[in-house]
This record gives sequence, structure tokens and C-alpha cells, in this order.
Amino acid sequence: MRRIASVILVVLLGAPAVVSALELSGSLIQGGVVRGEVQPGSEVVFDGRKIRVSEQGRFVLGFDRDAPEKMRLEVTRPDGQTSVRALRVEQREYDIQRIDGLPPRKVTPNEADLKRIRQEGALIREARKRNDPRTDFATDWIWPVTGPISGVYGSQRILNGEPRRPHYGWDIAVPTGTPVKAPAPGVVTLVHDDMFFSGGTLLLDHGHGLTSAFLHLSRITVAEGERVEKGEKIAEVGATGRVTGAHLDWRMNWFNSRVDPRTLVGPMPEDRAAAGE
Ligand SMILES: [Zn+2]
Repeated sequence: MRRIASVILVVLLGAPAVVSALELSGSLIQGGVVRGEVQPGSEVVFDGRKIRVSEQGRFVLGFDRDAPEKMRLEVTRPDGQTSVRALRVEQREYDIQRIDGLPPRKVTPNEADLKRIRQEGALIREARKRNDPRTDFATDWIWPVTGPISGVYGSQRILNGEPRRPHYGWDIAVPTGTPVKAPAPGVVTLVHDDMFFSGGTLLLDHGHGLTSAFLHLSRITVAEGERVEKGEKIAEVGATGRVTGAHLDWRMNWFNSRVDPRTLVGPMPEDRAAAGE
């Protein structure tokens, strides 16, 4: 009897990967960022596209603002066995936000502005194509600044009375000069002093296509190519680009999908939101 028990124990210890073929953590919701783990050496296909899996079996994926309700995740283990997980993506309703008093040219740019906007957009798109093997996304995230929220992810925007593209960031209204901290480790992939819409702009790459953008900065204190740790100061809040006042706009992408940073970091600490520190 004792002998049989020890044989069973050995079998169980020898096959833990079969028990956990796929683990997901995060919100299955539009804008959600989901981190996952599979048996090392597995292949993961999300929405028909093969995604990067680290040597330890880690991956990350993101749902766009308007992601459909049904999506598919396919995992093929090193032994060739494939399993399919049907993902049910919670559908959201987004707020409408009206902002008046913006300089008219920032709402309806002229020809020269449009050329500049296209060039700046190309720089950002290029930086977001990276697919680095780093797994900096596998951490507990922090807010880059804390304070009152003045704009939310996904909202429909009406600027000076005209409907414009949705807002993809979280706006935190804090004074110019407030330090901006890295919400997670990463590598600085873009530094720009003055973009048409976003003013002082910084992109941080957290690996596997997950990036943060920090907009309207007055000062950037790190350089392109630099590695930063979580909590390290990377910039200062400002009022540059298309703004009505000083604030940080923090947004995130998984490649070209616009994702919601709040699904990683959680709600703004309440005391900070109230005190506006
Ligand atoms: Zn904003």
C-alpha cells in the first residue's frame, strides 16, 4: 500500500505542466491587458496571430477598445497537443467628454500641421512595432503619478463642439514639474520634445509589444535606449501639445491595440485622488 502511494506521488510531481496548460491573469474586458503562462516551449495563437512566449512560458496580450465579445486563444504544447480557449470579452460603454476652449488650430490642423502630425505618428507607430523578449510587464504596476483624474480611457471626445477620435489615456491633473515615475520597468524607445498633439512625449517599452506613452511633458529626464526600473523618475508633468492645462496623459498599447492601463494598475489610490497630491 505504501509503495503504491509513493508511485502515484512520483507521477504527479513528474507532470505538473499537464495540470496547468494555460493560466491567465487580468481582465477579459475591452481594453484589458492579460498576462498568461503556458508550459515553456508552447506556441500561443491569439485572434489568429502567433504571439511571443518567453523561455519561461510567459506572454501578454491586449484587447482593443472595441474588441469583439468572442475571441480565441490557441495553445499548442511542446508535445503537439493543441487546446482552444474561447475568450468572452466583456463589452463596455464609454463616457462622452466635451472639452471647450482649445486653440482652434489644435482641433482643425492646417496643411503644414497635418504633414507634421503624419511624421510624428509614423515615429510612434515604428516604436510600437518592437517585440522585445524582455518580460518587464510581469510586475505589480504602479501609477506614474497620483492625483485627481480628469480624463478616462475610451471616452468619446467632443472638442470645441466637434466629434473627434476617442481618448485612449488616463489624464491625471497635477501641476507642471510633478515627477513622472516608471509604472513598470522598461526601455525608453522614443523621446520627443514637442509633438503637435502630445507635446513632450516619451515611450517606454515593457517587452512583448506592450508599451506606455506619457504625453504633455514639460521635461524628459531619460534618453532613448536607456533602461529604467519601476518607480524611477523619467520625466516631469507639463502642459505641452493639445491641452487646456497641466496634466499627465498615460496611455498603453499592445502593438497597435489601444489598451487600458487601469486594467493593470487598478484604481487610483483614493486619498491621492482626493488630495490631488
Ligand atoms: Zn489626455
